[in-house]
Amino acid sequence: MRTPLVAGNWKMHKTVTEAVALAEAVAAGVRDLAGVEVAVAPPFTALAPVARVLTNTPVRLGAQNVHWELEGAYTGEVAAPMLAELGVHYVIVGHSERRRDFGETDDLVARKAGRVLGAGMTPIVCVGETLEQRDAGRAFEVVETQIRAGIGPLGPDTLERLVVAYEPVWAIGTGRSATAEQAQEMHAHIRATLEAIGGGDAARGVRILYGGSVKPDNAAELLGQPDVDGALVGGASLQAEAFASIARSAL
Ligand code: PEP
Repeated sequence: MRTPLVAGNWKMHKTVTEAVALAEAVAAGVRDLAGVEVAVAPPFTALAPVARVLTNTPVRLGAQNVHWELEGAYTGEVAAPMLAELGVHYVIVGHSERRRDFGETDDLVARKAGRVLGAGMTPIVCVGETLEQRDAGRAFEVVETQIRAGIGPLGPDTLERLVVAYEPVWAIGTGRSATAEQAQEMHAHIRATLEAIGGGDAARGVRILYGGSVKPDNAAELLGQPDVDGALVGGASLQAEAFASIARSAL
């Protein structure tokens, strides 16, 4: 019912030349893959050239961030219509690195996601607890609050147009993934929270990705869980072969 999505977050890596080469390798690596949606999110500078590479391929283009206003005096920022015009399909919002380093709050996440939807694109809304919060037994409460405050204000009708990524902060870039069991129980909790917001039918249609040290050797077990509908991949998405292998694990 839910087509798996495997999305690569390239973060602040790759010059334009490097990004074009990686996009070409990814497109070639997943060319024969049916039944899994694949997306890559290069840095802003590489969006337009990568969009050209991905034309006539099934790989979708993503962006890593967006501003919450439509336009204005916001030096250094990029607005949703600018991304849409480049052919961007997915926009990552609320990544834990942006929450941590740029003070992104749930309120801003909701506003950004609203702009993404308004421009006809799909937000990938990231949520996840820190190690301290998990150790204190607060992981479910923290993630539920992020979902209610970051997605709730968008209204129940928007659920079918967004993607959620559960990314425990302690698993991002650490090499320490959540176990399949930890991922499944949190994904089920997220789906239950989405059901409370928008009803069972809508919640059952939302793709919930897992992110945090997904690699070729742990992807199959994580992606085999009933409520894990794909992956948001950081480090391993910078190597076309590893990324394609993870995408194949989603089948
Ligand atoms: C991420 O930053 O979204 C991520 C999941 O990173 P990594 O795969 O490197 O842990």
